[in-house]
Amino acid sequence: MIRDTKIVATLGPASSSPQILEQLIQAGVDVVRLNFSHGTAQDHIARAQLVREISVRLGREVAIMADLQGPKIRVGKFSGGKIFLEAGNSFVLDASRTELGDVKGVPLDYKELPRDVKPGDVLLLNDGLIVLVVDQIVGEAIYTTVKIGGELSDNKGINKQSGGLTAPALTSKDMDDIKTAMALQADYVAVSFPKNRTDMEMARQLCNVAGQQYKHRPSMIAKIERAEAIRPSVLEEILDVSDGIMVARGDLAVEVGAAAVPALQKRMIHLARERDKITITATQMMESMIVNPVPTRAEVSDVANAVLDGTDAVMLSAETASGKYPVETVQMMASICLESEVHEQLQLDHAFINKTFNRIDQSIAMGALFTAYHLGCKAIVALTDSGSTALWMSRQKIHIPIYAVTPRVASQRKMALYRNIRPLLMNSSEDRDTALLEAERLLISRGVLQAGDIYAITCGEPMGHPGGTNMLKIVRVN
Ligand code: PGA
Ligand code: MN
Repeated sequence: MIRDTKIVATLGPASSSPQILEQLIQAGVDVVRLNFSHGTAQDHIARAQLVREISVRLGREVAIMADLQGPKIRVGKFSGGKIFLEAGNSFVLDASRTELGDVKGVPLDYKELPRDVKPGDVLLLNDGLIVLVVDQIVGEAIYTTVKIGGELSDNKGINKQSGGLTAPALTSKDMDDIKTAMALQADYVAVSFPKNRTDMEMARQLCNVAGQQYKHRPSMIAKIERAEAIRPSVLEEILDVSDGIMVARGDLAVEVGAAAVPALQKRMIHLARERDKITITATQMMESMIVNPVPTRAEVSDVANAVLDGTDAVMLSAETASGKYPVETVQMMASICLESEVHEQLQLDHAFINKTFNRIDQSIAMGALFTAYHLGCKAIVALTDSGSTALWMSRQKIHIPIYAVTPRVASQRKMALYRNIRPLLMNSSEDRDTALLEAERLLISRGVLQAGDIYAITCGEPMGHPGGTNMLKIVRVN
């Protein structure tokens, strides 16, 4: 069986040896995520090199996603490394404090916080486990009352309920990391905490400038994890200037409340598909497998529901970065995806019939879907340069496998993230008929097609012009 939904796995200490990495890719990882919140540039470069080597050896291109750290809004350090906060006590977050923290207060890493809050605001520390209510601000000091207490240790994160922190999405560390990401030719760059389209535009521009010397242009993923970013017109604007979004449920749940996240996930995936954008559903998908060899029933359902929502990919974080069972987790996730896809409703969208286009290549892509669906084709084949034909085709839920054949490795890697797209590499050809025949041979050799099968194939004439798809052919294999 062939899986439609893609798997993104975060690399870390548990998944950096050549053996484990190879097993992860064999188990079904389509995209690896390099998390720039941890590790050195050298770690990421070494991991990227290994991924490329193993991909070549296995004949399966895996995409690389560089995930930038973004602004981390954190408390400072405590004299004992940690404290215990009692509910009802007062606690002072002080940007001007020079001595280490204690039970009465702590310095702030993020110096702007006193200007970003007002009395009555709710601050969530350590992923929302600790809740403080702001009483008053005096100079650089924020006086709060502990609403929900607990252990608080050095450098834990701070979120503000309902958003409103002014920290810019790109820090100077991110700008350095972008250079590393372009040097290792990351196919995707994920931007943490963007709050509007400008953050994403700026990130893309920095990537393009840093990528110029390598002739490399990455695709941009906006991590939706701030309350600001889900406001109706804002999410649409962010989508317009990004190639895709991540439903970043970890931080998003802290800012908007965990209960709001499932409905937001559905809205985000729906909006993204409608606009021909990619989605990655992330965080805690198989959390218990960090320590256990099997997932909980709820985790299985969560992965299945993301598949049914129409996500392009499901993501693993600590499960593969530092968990005890990285390979088993990927195997389990792959089987949940497969099983869920079988039960997905197989229909062209009703709205599909009334869709209008102003691009020739897009209308050919839609025509191929329509014909293949109604004729019951065995496969759809897209000869594509940039991958955009494949992207349009992948925005509709049909279970006819789509093979995207491209002469460009960079396009092949990007398409590893598109749902229901199997990217393949083929030599470029100037001659249309040669290319069509060669693509057919490739699919026969892969066991996809055999004599008697009908398939739909799209291409552009003349060949080799990005955006030039203008032809659809229906073929019966001799
Ligand atoms: P992170 O992003 O793992 O980098 O925090 C994902 C999330 O917040 O869900
Ligand atoms: Mn996050």
